[in-house]
Amino acid sequence: MVTVKKILGQTKPLKTIDRIIRLGKRGQAILLTGCPGIGKFAMAVHMAYRFLCQDDNKGCGKCSSCRSISNFNHPDFLLVFPFPNISPESKRNTVFHFSDSVSSGARYSNETLDEVNRFLAEKSADPYRIVSFSKKGNIPVEVVKDLIRAISKRPMLGERRAVVVCDIDQMAFGAADLFLKTVEEPPEDSLVIITSSKTHVLLPTLLSRTLKIPLNPVSYDLIKSYLEKQGIDGSHDFYIRFSSGSPGLALKAYEDDLVERRDKLWKIVAEFIEKQSLTNTIEALQRRYQKPDYDAVRNDFNILEKILRDIYILKFGLEKKLINIDIKDRIKTVARVAPSTGALRRWFKILAKASRVHGVNNVSADIAFIGMFIEFWRMKDLH
Ligand SMILES: [Zn+2]
Repeated sequence: MVTVKKILGQTKPLKTIDRIIRLGKRGQAILLTGCPGIGKFAMAVHMAYRFLCQDDNKGCGKCSSCRSISNFNHPDFLLVFPFPNISPESKRNTVFHFSDSVSSGARYSNETLDEVNRFLAEKSADPYRIVSFSKKGNIPVEVVKDLIRAISKRPMLGERRAVVVCDIDQMAFGAADLFLKTVEEPPEDSLVIITSSKTHVLLPTLLSRTLKIPLNPVSYDLIKSYLEKQGIDGSHDFYIRFSSGSPGLALKAYEDDLVERRDKLWKIVAEFIEKQSLTNTIEALQRRYQKPDYDAVRNDFNILEKILRDIYILKFGLEKKLINIDIKDRIKTVARVAPSTGALRRWFKILAKASRVHGVNNVSADIAFIGMFIEFWRMKDLH
């Protein structure tokens, strides 16, 4: 269960949130921002606890309201998040409790329901955990329609209702437009909280109508103790540095064994820079992305960005700020023969573009990576 004590860091956002809950300030939806795993889900649920708690908005954890939120089955706590549509041909179940089981158009297979329940179970055990699905997910239009219908009715138990929409940037095409009115004018009895780690893709109207509360990067020591509580100790330095202040990302990096992935990708990058052979690099990339896994490729874009970042900052002598500090000496050797800072800045742009064509435009991993290195090649001698 999420409690105040379990929120890692966030002193300033917690003060703002405390004021909102105490003064009962509503009439404006709240947008929690920050990178994946930083604690947006934990904070949103924390707010729902407090808003609906029967004991003076403490989020006591003991009253019947708090207890039913902890099982995610409070009738006035409406929680929505992106999920994958698996076996769409066998539509049977509604997956959220606010969807009317008779009239709802949002029906999904048993496999989809299993994934939704797994998400809830994992988030209930650890709200910082980044839950991955086997297929890309979204928040479908039909679910948003059910949500709007539910919000238009009176709360079921008391006088208040908490609505949490996670990763609103993953609403299906058209769904965000439908939801806009709820964000613009939330009902008096409802606290509407939305979260996003990609605010740059949100509708400007949605951004301008919300009260934004950015979550802060969590300190090294807090992430360290978080990982240790999960039974991970010893060599967690790389994961914490890699996470840029996100506990969930540090845990995921550990579970995905990112050191091993980093070592293999680093070998390709180092050889590309040192030996200056495009042909060898293309062959290595073809081998690496023969049977790519979506999640692993997303990790690779992230790892590559951090490798290039380290090479870049070494050009300015910022050795202590390295993320890949465990291979410091190797990076230093490579950085000496790496392209100029101007060329590296162009590489960052090329990397961002390649990541987008893979993630958004569904270009295959091998083509995205090979195309990116060909562009790196063209830019390497520029100053
Ligand atoms: Zn309570």
